[in-house]
Amino acid sequence: MIPEALGRLDAGAPPAGSTRSPQQLGLADENRQVELSAKMRADLLDFDAWGEILKMYGRTMRVAVALTDSEGLLVGKCHNPQPVWNLVRDAASDWGAGCPFCITKRPPCAAVADAIRSGTAVVVHDQAGLTHVAVPLTLGKETLGAIIAGQVFDRYPEPLMLRRVAKDFGISAQDLWEVAKKERPVGGALLQASGHLLGALGHAFLQQRHAAILEEKLAETNDRFRWLAEGIRDYALFTMDTAGRVTSWNVGAEHMLGYTEAEIMGQNFSCIFPPEDIQRRFTETQLHKALRTGRAEYEGWSIRRTQEQFWANVNITALSGRTGPIQSFAIIMQDSTERKKIAIVLEEAQQERGRLQEKFLSHVSHELRTPLTAIYFFTTNILDGVFGDLTPEQHKHLALALDNVTQLKDMVSDLLDITRVETHKLTLVRQPASLVKVTSEVLSTCHTNAAAKNINLRADCAANLPLVWADPARVRQILTNLIDNGVKFTADSGTVSVKAKFFGEDRDFVCVSVSDSGCGISAENREIIFDRLAQVQGTGEVSRSGLGLGLFISRELVSRHGGRIWLDSRPGHGSTFYFTLPVFSLVKYCSHIFSGPNLDAGSVTLIAVDVVEVQRGAQTDVLREIRQILERCIHAGQDVLLPATGDKGPIVTFFIVACSDPKGSALIASRILRDLQNFDKASQLNPRISATTIRVARGQSREEQIHEIAARIESSVQEHLLAKERNK
Ligand code: ADP
Repeated sequence: MIPEALGRLDAGAPPAGSTRSPQQLGLADENRQVELSAKMRADLLDFDAWGEILKMYGRTMRVAVALTDSEGLLVGKCHNPQPVWNLVRDAASDWGAGCPFCITKRPPCAAVADAIRSGTAVVVHDQAGLTHVAVPLTLGKETLGAIIAGQVFDRYPEPLMLRRVAKDFGISAQDLWEVAKKERPVGGALLQASGHLLGALGHAFLQQRHAAILEEKLAETNDRFRWLAEGIRDYALFTMDTAGRVTSWNVGAEHMLGYTEAEIMGQNFSCIFPPEDIQRRFTETQLHKALRTGRAEYEGWSIRRTQEQFWANVNITALSGRTGPIQSFAIIMQDSTERKKIAIVLEEAQQERGRLQEKFLSHVSHELRTPLTAIYFFTTNILDGVFGDLTPEQHKHLALALDNVTQLKDMVSDLLDITRVETHKLTLVRQPASLVKVTSEVLSTCHTNAAAKNINLRADCAANLPLVWADPARVRQILTNLIDNGVKFTADSGTVSVKAKFFGEDRDFVCVSVSDSGCGISAENREIIFDRLAQVQGTGEVSRSGLGLGLFISRELVSRHGGRIWLDSRPGHGSTFYFTLPVFSLVKYCSHIFSGPNLDAGSVTLIAVDVVEVQRGAQTDVLREIRQILERCIHAGQDVLLPATGDKGPIVTFFIVACSDPKGSALIASRILRDLQNFDKASQLNPRISATTIRVARGQSREEQIHEIAARIESSVQEHLLAKERNK
């Protein structure tokens, strides 16, 4: 055996007449890794497919030619077999697993194995002088097999060698010689050239075959998909390009949307969505989302050809080329109108049930309130001795009755608050409020309960505690609930203490805490304690004296103030409830008038309007009307009427911060006096107006200027209120 390497074949040359590159066909190029299944390998080396080209090559080159697998075994049969080989092959009873082209068996022919290993064409001679060339067949980095061509002598045949072959195969040496000597030897150079040609031809054909198989598969998949898409009637399935033109349309889409394929193809998709959605670019936004993330899903209205609207579940998938940008969208639509209708009916039913519940609750609590107030009123009168003296026994029983009535009144008022929460009618009347004042008021009302259990009730408010921006009545309610709970869940002779100080995490808030030395609350119950109707198992009889609404309402009230409520507790070691309230900030309240041009004018004036408190019964309305008059007398962009300070008569003061000098504030004052006189024909209000002008400091940052003005206004307000207190 004499292997001769022919060098690496230029297998990359495109086949003659080919117009598409392997990449265009979706084929692997030389360097790309192609993974071939056993089926694909078999298809690629299909004997019939290769038949024509191999036959043509054999006839043209006058050589035998055949395909082998990667083990060197013949695939199908040999084309254009040569006479000597034919004679020997016919005589051989069993050819065995050796080289299909050699007629001598030793040493074994390794042409195919060598060609595959080296990636080059390998030429071999057997011992009888027959020559063939083996060319490897590869696709990407996968080796499929080889083409072998030859069975020809490359020089004049040698009788001696042929005689040995004749003996080995039991044929007449004379016959073999006669056939052999008629064969024309093929020169070495020609064999070499044919190796090159065969390599290029084989590679090109293999590529083409691969492309053809893939295209066939793609067509099959497309057909299957089309068949599937066509079969789906409950879903509209269509595609459109990035310009919004419909590019495919299944029967389901025709059925659901009413357009035939012929009508809609190439049309803009917008006709199937409501004009409002198109105008507000809702549909476009969904497509953009699909572009960004690959997918978008939403539910919304869609329109049939008949202009009937239906509720659709829409699923958009962005489709891209193999490597390139998004080229189209696939849209799957499902008609969910029935589901939507059921959901609407269910929601309406739920809302209606909620409304009825709230109405019932509100009605019952209002109805209960009137008789309860009457019972409360008469009981306290009797207890106060209005209708004569009571025996100690009568007093004891009536006091018990009063306790129960008070508890009932509290429950009814909680129920009313709940309905207000649910109907969004729980409103706050905010003002700068003193927590010191509110705390002492609450403590005095809770005192009786605490004293009954010998509980030490105490309060500690920080000295520098600022005013909070809150509704004092609601803060009283929160504190009362927390202190009452503390007393309720603390054993006799325990302690309940209230503290108020700046909130450590945020100086814009004040933090109030209510601690008790009571039974404490487990971690599990701490999770649910602020829920509506929450009552903890195991707190026994005491917890049954409430409705489980107090903490829920407290949380609602705190959060409406912009604060937060939470607790710390350990079973057996008491509990501490904390809540925060925003600090009243004059700077924030006046921020809209403390702007550049207003302060650049150089002065800010605090105007105090004192009026005599009149008509006790209708007082609040009078005060409200006075506020309205004052609001009308000031310039909203330059001046601000401060919130009520909550101070009690006989003189009530209204404060105005005006971005003006004394002259400007005198004008405001005269307007106020004139309007108040018009309002108060009986001259009962006796209005008195005083003004303090503050110069805006030069050479400071705006922030420093504002803080200084605010601080001076606050101290002027305090001074005015103190002076009023002194002159009472
Ligand atoms: P209620 O009006 O029934 O007291 P709350 O909402 O105020 O309703 O409280 C709910 C539940 O939380 C109470 O029933 C009690 O079990 C528990 N709880 C509240 N405060 C305390 C406390 N300080 N110590 C122990 N348990 C408490």
